Amino acid sequence: MPATTTPDPRGLLREAGLRVTEPRVAVVTALADNPHSGADAIYAQVAAHMPTTSRQAIYNVLSDITSAGIARRIEPAGQPGLYELRVGDNHHHIVCQRCGAVTDVDCVTGHAPCLTPNTTNGFDLVEAEVTFWGVCTACKAATVPNSSIVPV
Ligand SMILES: [Zn+2]
Ligand SMILES: [Zn+2]
Repeated sequence: MPATTTPDPRGLLREAGLRVTEPRVAVVTALADNPHSGADAIYAQVAAHMPTTSRQAIYNVLSDITSAGIARRIEPAGQPGLYELRVGDNHHHIVCQRCGAVTDVDCVTGHAPCLTPNTTNGFDLVEAEVTFWGVCTACKAATVPNSSIVPV
């Protein structure tokens, strides 16, 4: 369900109390277009329009908007940090084990924490972060099942 209405980057920045700068607007726009992007992918996208942007500037913007709560950073095992604008709903991710494609999954039970551990060791649980691993449809389609090469 791609129900993400493209947010207004300037509005998001202002609401979060950040100064509206061109690189910030460009990064938020890039993330709105391509959620779950790594810093390098975002840099490539922004640099296509703003060739003077430095990689470091993009990293700084990502760190600013992440601490301001506009973006969220997820780190599936074995992958670089990925950024997305969908924050605050405690959703989870399915990651393809072959190509690394990432898709969103809504909270399993609707509320955080999704999972109730047997013991919390005295912690107050705030949220659960779950990564499901699997094989995406594109990778499945690219796989020739052995059963289709049945000898006659
Ligand atoms: Zn895949
Ligand atoms: Zn997500």
